[in-house]
Amino acid sequence: MKFGGTCLGTEDTLSKVSKVVKSETEQKIVVVSAASGVTNSIKEFVSKQRHEKEIDDFIATQKMRHLDMLPKKDGQKRKEAIEQIDAKLTKFERLLYGVTYTEELTPRTNDLILSFGERLSAVVVAARLGHDGIDAVPMETDALGMITNEQHGNAVAILDKCEKNMGTSLLATLKRGMTPVVTGFFGITESGHVTTVGRSGTDYTAAVVAYSTEAKPVEIWKEVDGFMSADPKLVKDAFLLERLSYEEAAELAYFGAQVLHPRAVHPARIKGIDIVIKNLFKPESPGTVIGKSRHVRKDVIKSVSYMPNVATLKVYDTGAGYKSGFLADITESLHKANINIFSATTSQTCAAVLIDEADIPSARKAIKAIIGSVGENFEVNPGVALICTVGEGFGETKGVAARVFNAVAQKSVNVDLISAGASMVAYHFTVERRDLKNAIVAIHDEFYGKHLHESTSDGPVS
Ligand code: ASP
Ligand code: MG
Repeated sequence: MKFGGTCLGTEDTLSKVSKVVKSETEQKIVVVSAASGVTNSIKEFVSKQRHEKEIDDFIATQKMRHLDMLPKKDGQKRKEAIEQIDAKLTKFERLLYGVTYTEELTPRTNDLILSFGERLSAVVVAARLGHDGIDAVPMETDALGMITNEQHGNAVAILDKCEKNMGTSLLATLKRGMTPVVTGFFGITESGHVTTVGRSGTDYTAAVVAYSTEAKPVEIWKEVDGFMSADPKLVKDAFLLERLSYEEAAELAYFGAQVLHPRAVHPARIKGIDIVIKNLFKPESPGTVIGKSRHVRKDVIKSVSYMPNVATLKVYDTGAGYKSGFLADITESLHKANINIFSATTSQTCAAVLIDEADIPSARKAIKAIIGSVGENFEVNPGVALICTVGEGFGETKGVAARVFNAVAQKSVNVDLISAGASMVAYHFTVERRDLKNAIVAIHDEFYGKHLHESTSDGPVS
């Protein structure tokens, strides 16, 4: 049972967490994010050179933030939790002093510092559960041996090692009748350095924990009902999808649906473990179940997601189409500049890649440096949005893509880059950002009809 930052906001949301955990009668492992806003505040704090006084104030604020969430009633549990929080904060403070004195923040130290949000929240959540009669223990993923590779800031779990270390200790803890409260977001390299798995990565930790212990299912508790047929902010008729395949969920998550960390699907899929999205503020809602079963709707498309802030980078060369390594040279130079590529297409004269709009300055710099030897000239177009349409059966059903593009064309929206075929369940393409809403509404109307239905399971069948 994974609880995200928005579930860990106040004493009130924590009591909801506790209720949900209590009502689960089977053995369970709890995995927690940092309390709401904490990772951001740590990140912001270390983004500047700080004075000692600022560190003291920052630590005091963190202390208050976490003590405020503890059960008010004095007693042994509260006392123990305060001692644990103080011990974490002492270490945290020393680290921050270290950064100030050395005036240096390496990716390795940065990861260690960022891990403190989860170390603190695990203590708080365990104390809260303890107060409500659940025998809970905070457990940290570095001590548990959640082994990852060395990629600081975006580390990947080495699953067989996690299973061997973390799986064994967690199962032993369960056997003693206790409920582990595990820190999300970070693991440890084999050489003993803390790594983080990427922002919002606790979903991924939860899936790795499930893989390691064969816990079924993984529940992701958050502040929304689950995956929707479209963003309800853009499409008023959007509704909850009760079932998705792993592949559908991974594509939607990767291309903008902020419901699940895209990497969480991988460990779960290997062991056929269902992932269930649940709303802490509406626990009676069925949520979305993500699993192996593949359901093809008659109208195929189940959901439309989007990334509002992308840019296209186009590199031109008269010989692009037959120069081997042309695209590789471009992606290599972007990779070296730490720029993620969402998608790539090529033609006889051009290679086009999609990047995050925030990466434009560094992408320009990287490509400028190779122009002349790779490519004759290039351009970057900001103001682009990426739309992704998803549904099992897309790859083998005739006419679906035509319906998508027709619906968009009817609104006089121009489509630029299209990528199809890389996934059997998804198509994505770009439009100008100002056309985003129109295009999404048009697609949703085309595949679900304008006036919806009461059913929530899959939308209307025809
Ligand atoms: N606390 C981390 C973050 O804010 C991880 C998570 O919330 O899942 O990114
Ligand atoms: Mg978070």
